[in-house]
Amino acid sequence: MPTVGILGRDVEVKFMKGEGGTGDADRDQLVAGIKSMAALIDRTDWPDVYRDAFGRMKGITFFDGMIRVNGHQIERPCCDEDDAVFYWEIEEFMQNQDDDVRANTFFHDCWHVVQFHDAGFPDGDKERVWREVDATTHQIIVAKLLGCSDHETLHLEKFKNDQKAIIDRLNEGVRKKWGPQDHHVERKAKPVDD
Ligand SMILES: [Zn+2]
Repeated sequence: MPTVGILGRDVEVKFMKGEGGTGDADRDQLVAGIKSMAALIDRTDWPDVYRDAFGRMKGITFFDGMIRVNGHQIERPCCDEDDAVFYWEIEEFMQNQDDDVRANTFFHDCWHVVQFHDAGFPDGDKERVWREVDATTHQIIVAKLLGCSDHETLHLEKFKNDQKAIIDRLNEGVRKKWGPQDHHVERKAKPVDD
């Protein structure tokens, strides 16, 4: 399997074909996209705290369709925080091919891994919303360090200040049998009751 170096650490890149997915994405193009994003991250000057955060993610798994990870059904990008794997939906990855946008998107979930290391799995909606606001706040700073314009980070500012949008996002595209769940694959350490 391919690995891509980001700030001196190897990140494993894998692929999953989900239910309803085609599995026919151009893997070389996806790996090239990650390499190009990594090159931008590598040539940017980072405060230690962000350099450390980027180093927390061990893997990126591209997928299409609906995949099952640790008992969750996933149809959009999300992060397995304790395994430090970012599940990146191919459609979203290809929607905006700017390295700076991809890099700040990736960073957001690296920051969730930092939060997990600091405080474990989030407990309750209030904590989940707080972590979204926190991750998005740092993501905006990182986006600007990567070269994104204020215009490019405007949607992140709006999202950060809109609690309903955050909750809708957390509840979209990830579910277990009994209903919607947040977008992070965070309950695998607890007993699974399905
Ligand atoms: Zn998040």
